[in-house]
Amino acid sequence: MSRLVVVSNRVAPIDDKKSASGGLAVAMHAALKAQGGIWFGWSGEVVAAPDPEPKHFDSKNITFATLDLSQRDYEEYYNGFANSTLWPLFHYRLDLTEFSRRTYAGYLRVNALFAGKLSAMLKPDDKVWVHDYHLLPLGEQLRQMGHRQRLGFFLHTPFPVPEILLALPNHENLVRSLCAYDVVGFQTKRDVDAFVSYLIQEVGGEVVGEKRVRAFGRTLTVGHFPISVETADIERDAQSALTSRQTERLSESLGDRDLIIGVDRLDYSKGLYQRFQAFEALMETYPDNRGRVTFMQIAPPTRTDVPEYNVIRRELETSAGHINGKFAEFDWVPIRYLNKSFARKTLLGFYRMARVGFVTPLRDGMNLVAKEYVAAQDPEDPGVLVLSRFAGAAIEMGDALIVNPYDVEGVAEALQRALSMPLEERRHRHAALMDVLRSNDIVTWRNRFDEALENAIPDA
Ligand code: UDP
Repeated sequence: MSRLVVVSNRVAPIDDKKSASGGLAVAMHAALKAQGGIWFGWSGEVVAAPDPEPKHFDSKNITFATLDLSQRDYEEYYNGFANSTLWPLFHYRLDLTEFSRRTYAGYLRVNALFAGKLSAMLKPDDKVWVHDYHLLPLGEQLRQMGHRQRLGFFLHTPFPVPEILLALPNHENLVRSLCAYDVVGFQTKRDVDAFVSYLIQEVGGEVVGEKRVRAFGRTLTVGHFPISVETADIERDAQSALTSRQTERLSESLGDRDLIIGVDRLDYSKGLYQRFQAFEALMETYPDNRGRVTFMQIAPPTRTDVPEYNVIRRELETSAGHINGKFAEFDWVPIRYLNKSFARKTLLGFYRMARVGFVTPLRDGMNLVAKEYVAAQDPEDPGVLVLSRFAGAAIEMGDALIVNPYDVEGVAEALQRALSMPLEERRHRHAALMDVLRSNDIVTWRNRFDEALENAIPDA
């Protein structure tokens, strides 16, 4: 069997129990354990004088190989082109998309550094699986070094429609580099269609068979592989998490009030500002909920070196303060807004307690919280998922209450409907959603991609 080589911006810690890492890390560890291989990427460290050689750590049949980054690389590659250009662009935020040749050069430089170091470790029959928007050019750079191995790429974020992508000055270079892979995977068919439309409209590409496209002189497989969660493990762990100390404390603090829960990195793509407004509209339009419903939003800060993230943080502080000031009573605060992260296991207990899972990104590749929330429910008395149509998850999860996050009054209405939904309807919707999560869990996801890569027809 070929070795699997996983490449991602961050390499998940080896001791998974100590981290907040989720299904992806678990899935990659399991895939690597089954096939043997390498996990290669950034260590997460920024140092004054990075060692040019990767640090290696072997654990049974897996080698973890990581590189540190210099301050300049970190600023240009990570904060710069990846998170100030590609992330906002791929989430349809042209207004926040910055472009500079300097950060683009840094992005290419770090990708070339990764490709060069990885190149020395590759064997001819390895299968290479590259993850996410940080590393789009890596495959092409490996090809330029003469590598003919099967190369696969999976994009965790959305892929924007051509009209958005064209705003990027070097769009063609990036798409060309994607075509150097043998398999390019996206979260949803919507993303695949956007990619194929670009190829057809902009560079004379063509569809040459089922899931096969030809562009830039290469033929490759494209497909959608909706990422998922460890459904069975979550079902089991959520039940036991109910008796954890934190969940019990949360339960005591709520008394008999209903809980609406939101869990998101503090990111402008997550629609938190509009979400707070929708909750305010709920309090205005359906005042019976005052004193009876608590909205807990967990929002750990991320990418704090990117200025836009501090702007959204200030906006949310103001908004939460405003809503609490307006509606709070001496014995009840409507919004509990927490800027810190929780272990996933703790979250499972919180999800299970919550009557409503409130997941309303303005744009999201998939959104795993939506799936975790559903898998964590008690099937006998499940809560209701209120889910944005702009999350990739909405395509599989049509039995949630699907909302348009920009329609603040419509979202408030959906919250009201969720809070008052009869048991029978809740059970029915939950069972339908669980069918989806059982038939496509994280193991199915990685097996499907692995199979596509295994069967990839190598192009010259
Ligand atoms: N998460 C966590 N602790 C937190 C907040 C989030 O472990 O305090 C996890 C969450 O359970 C989920 C992941 O982080 O597995 C977030 O994935 P998602 O697809 O929802 O959003 P992303 O952050 O990848 O945009």
